[in-house]
Amino acid sequence: EGGIPSMKACNAACIACISEDHCGTASPQNRLDFVPTVQEIVEVASEHLLKARDAIISFGQGCEGEPALNGKRLSQAIHRIRNLCSQGTINMNTNAGYCEGVKLMTDAGMDSMRVTIFSAIEENYIAYHCPQDYSLADVEYSIAYAREHGVKISLNLLTFPGFTDRMEEVEALVEFVRKNQVDMIQLRNLNIDPEFLMRIFPGKSPVLGISNFIKLLERELPGVRIGSYTHTVHRK
Ligand code: SF4
Repeated sequence: EGGIPSMKACNAACIACISEDHCGTASPQNRLDFVPTVQEIVEVASEHLLKARDAIISFGQGCEGEPALNGKRLSQAIHRIRNLCSQGTINMNTNAGYCEGVKLMTDAGMDSMRVTIFSAIEENYIAYHCPQDYSLADVEYSIAYAREHGVKISLNLLTFPGFTDRMEEVEALVEFVRKNQVDMIQLRNLNIDPEFLMRIFPGKSPVLGISNFIKLLERELPGVRIGSYTHTVHRK
């Protein structure tokens, strides 16, 4: 395990990152300052999967960096966990920009993947997430690979009234969900100074209102679950 290199903590610099300050405002939490060994991960994860009802373990909870960057270490952990137990759900919360890491996690037996996205319009996606070495096309590639290998896909949609429910954003989101065959959209409140955000994304497109936005999603995407958290995957 000592031979597995741990990589940089994240490949993005999201404006409202909750684990690192990217815009001059203190983040509410700090990232782990150590990298757990494969054995430590396996011990904690398998204990939970073996004993809890409808158990889920998540890599990347609270967005403490991008877990796929440590895909080598985490995929080894998943292999060992699945040797110990088959029940429960193994999930990753990710920006899905590092395709190689997503592939490793998928091949190891990840059950579900929640992909954080602020906008399905590339220009706005880049302005918010500030990806360092990937594009929205890489995110789509990761989703396609995972989905084709049986992983359930959720979007973690960072939701901000007055932005997310703009007509142009809604249209792009519906197209993205259809094209990428997303199973679920999780609406996640984006906590940020509204004036700060609106200065970056002024926009003049008509705004639906969040209730109408949700109704529109339900109407346009009938097979897609709308909710707020990851559900257990019941494997066949
Ligand atoms: S992907 Fe997550 S950890 Fe990385 S900068 Fe964005 S919010 Fe922060």
